[in-house]
Amino acid sequence: MIRRGFLKDMLGAAWTGGTLLEQAVFRATQARAQSAGAPASLFTIEKVAEGIYAAIAKPTALINCNAAIFENSSDLLIVDTHSKPSAVVALVSQLKKEVAAKPVRYIVNSHFHWDHTQGTPTYRKIALHADIVSSAATRRLLAENGAERLRGSVEAARKSLDALKEKLSTARTREAKAHFATAISETNAYLREVANYAPELPNVTTDGRLVIHDKAHELHVIFSGRAHTAGDVAVFCPQKKVIATGDALHGFMPYMFDGYPREWPGTLRGWAKLDFAHVIPGHAAVQHSKDRFMNMAGYIEELTEAVVKGKGAGRTAEQLQQTITPASLKSLTRGGYGDFLGDSLKKYRFLDPSLSKAVIISDGVKENIAHIYGALGRA
Ligand SMILES: [Zn+2]
Repeated sequence: MIRRGFLKDMLGAAWTGGTLLEQAVFRATQARAQSAGAPASLFTIEKVAEGIYAAIAKPTALINCNAAIFENSSDLLIVDTHSKPSAVVALVSQLKKEVAAKPVRYIVNSHFHWDHTQGTPTYRKIALHADIVSSAATRRLLAENGAERLRGSVEAARKSLDALKEKLSTARTREAKAHFATAISETNAYLREVANYAPELPNVTTDGRLVIHDKAHELHVIFSGRAHTAGDVAVFCPQKKVIATGDALHGFMPYMFDGYPREWPGTLRGWAKLDFAHVIPGHAAVQHSKDRFMNMAGYIEELTEAVVKGKGAGRTAEQLQQTITPASLKSLTRGGYGDFLGDSLKKYRFLDPSLSKAVIISDGVKENIAHIYGALGRA
């Protein structure tokens, strides 16, 4: 669904952060995204501290991730690159208007997942001299899996179209009809946009801590163990007390398909010892305390323990999905963490509006059980 007024606005805002060649590529990418039918307004930008901003992804049919923007004295460092070129041009246009017309100097890929990395080739073209930073493990995983994961996301998107069309034809309320019509148009736009995607690999990696010394502040890219994937990094600014966490910590239920459930809580507790007051997560809202680190670590620990016990007793994942319920997990019921997750998912994910919070959480726990069950055999 393209809103003319917004597009005119976006085109009018000539991006002056780069060289003429970079600007030409930027405008061409912008035009291609528009002709593919990609939505133009994808983020809400929020100031988190002096010179640090969160671009919070609006809900879209194909998941998009947040970005963290660190404004250095003469350039920008951006954490994560979203799922598609149009997200990059949407963000860069918006940064020019709402943050600063400074060139992009550093890109950090927090981990290898497609919804955090598929915009990297676009940054490579519009910021020719930018360094692309990740952990060594993320670079390896992108090289091994990046193209295959893109094919997976394309296949899943194509398959989802039939189900979405079916749902649109039987939708009763105006809200439901609008939801499924938007889902179909955004899915088609995504498929057109990523048709020629090839992953762009980071050119700077770390197995520990890499520090960027800028006049404005220091930025620490920290790998300290496996979590959501084998290669998650956080970006920490000690002077401004901000941390950007990718998907190792966010406001949704943890996604554990590539995860290390026995190591993840320890990585989170380690990061929580750093001196920060604000968290820019990979998805959902900015947080201003360390509470969610403890909540998420506690949930992963409790659920993993229950799955380990059940698997040890010879139960199947399907059987455990019947007995381990949200109500049986203290980490979800205590302190309202389950409620927080439900509200957050309803607000920031593009979910069927008829789904209740209880159903969303229960489905999430079931998926987590299946993924933990599979991950327990992983080295
Ligand atoms: Zn992820």
